[in-house]
Amino acid sequence: MIRTTLALGALLFASAANAVTIVENVNGIQIGADGKLQHFGSFVIGDDGRVTQVMANPTPRMSRFDRMINGEGRTVLPGLIDAHGHVMDLGFAALRIDVTGTQSIAELQQRLRDYAAAHPNDAWIVGFGWNQESWPEKRFPTSADLDAAVSDRPVVLERVDGHAVVANSAALRAAGVTAATQPPSGGEIHDGVFVDAARELVERAIPKPTMEQRDQALEKSQQILLGFGVTGVGSMSTSVDDWNSFRRAGEAGRLNVRLMSYLSGTESMKAVPTPTPWLYGDRLRAVGIKLFADGALGSRGAWLKQPYADKPDTRGLQFHSDAELYDLALRAATAGFQVATHAIGDAANAQVISTYEKLGKYCKADCRWRIEHFQIADPADIPRLAPAGIIASMQPTHQTSDRLMAEARLGPNRLAGAYAWQTVLKSGARLAFGSDFPVESPNPFPGLSAGISRQDMHGQPPGGWIPAERLSFAQALDAFTRGAAYAGFAEDKIGALEPGKYADFIIVDRDPTKVDPQSLAQTQVLETWIAGKKVWERAPSAAATERGK
Ligand SMILES: [Zn+2]
Repeated sequence: MIRTTLALGALLFASAANAVTIVENVNGIQIGADGKLQHFGSFVIGDDGRVTQVMANPTPRMSRFDRMINGEGRTVLPGLIDAHGHVMDLGFAALRIDVTGTQSIAELQQRLRDYAAAHPNDAWIVGFGWNQESWPEKRFPTSADLDAAVSDRPVVLERVDGHAVVANSAALRAAGVTAATQPPSGGEIHDGVFVDAARELVERAIPKPTMEQRDQALEKSQQILLGFGVTGVGSMSTSVDDWNSFRRAGEAGRLNVRLMSYLSGTESMKAVPTPTPWLYGDRLRAVGIKLFADGALGSRGAWLKQPYADKPDTRGLQFHSDAELYDLALRAATAGFQVATHAIGDAANAQVISTYEKLGKYCKADCRWRIEHFQIADPADIPRLAPAGIIASMQPTHQTSDRLMAEARLGPNRLAGAYAWQTVLKSGARLAFGSDFPVESPNPFPGLSAGISRQDMHGQPPGGWIPAERLSFAQALDAFTRGAAYAGFAEDKIGALEPGKYADFIIVDRDPTKVDPQSLAQTQVLETWIAGKKVWERAPSAAATERGK
């Protein structure tokens, strides 16, 4: 017994003396526990990859350390956390045809032709990213539009918001869809476009990705995220297959980005019946269940209290009755899961708030109910968030992308609770920021920029859209660090460089507190570190080119 204690003591001493790293001479910026901007000049990392000390002085006098990293005065931020992203979808999107940014149906067709020519052996062409709002036609694409580009094999292309797909005739044949096919409730079909619940009619025919393709997609996704300085993600709508991909990567030591997983619907609980502890060096945890209350605003699937201004015969899609939603959330909460529910329209948000209010007693003290997006809220409902302990998980770049569309869908007099970040914070509720990648780019810097400016990357509109909802830089950074960590029950591990938390940090090419919003959006990540190890570095040639510009 005594010998064991001695041996253990010696081991602890040896390891502590072996691997103390000091990072000095940095322009460190983060959010303190008081929510205010905090500056630091150096910090110390223990051998377990956790921070042991953070100091204001850039050149602290330390007598014992094993490794010194000179930050050369560069700016260091804690690793950024995206509270809501789709990790596998990001990887798949990067490996599939990408039609984002097309400016017309003709351009979409040209990209399809080019992709088909470059991938003659792909049995199916599956892609992502069209948005009819960017086209002069302002209409959904049709099967005939796709047939004109590729007709020899099935093509299925998802809308940028993920709520609709368009299929060519070969895909319709493969899926057995005919003119007589009726959409299920909660879905619509028109001219080869399948909205919300109807998507399944065509998507079920797409061959499932192989295990190798999944592993490849996860690796690709992590590389993209690390390159943008994202070290943690609220991994939304994790399917059981996704979960197994994460586990495989964890087992193989290939998981760098920390994933707080929200499994897709209560049916996932058959495979993952309860939340898991943190796994693989705190890289992965099943923390919650993701539910849906409605669709999206672009496809008029968001469920509104009043009819759409630009389509007065509809109020959008209600996915569940009050009793159904309550039952789903209750099943997840009683199993110990955090519940995160997608709600975009004001009617959906009110329904989810009421559901959480009623459920309060079913999760012990700390429920942290989440509403994903919280895009269009009735201003009367916002003060209900804080008393019920509801976190608003919002995406600042949705505001800049959706601005004109939201004005069209809602009209000018119903925007008071739209993307209302400052009102949410003033109400006392917690705010977490993310991007909903791959719906938007996973790059958090345009998100930080939109957060403080309510302007897009071109500075539009001047002064910002509904400028009263702008945040300070500290509030926006808080939502991308501490707020996002809190939203995933990870605030004891990540979100700030503080003793006991992981040394997850990034080195960037400018001081984000000293530049205008447009420059902030252009911030380049130079290095990304997780648990005190460098896991990504900008290629030297690329960095030099950037500097030379
Ligand atoms: Zn999402």
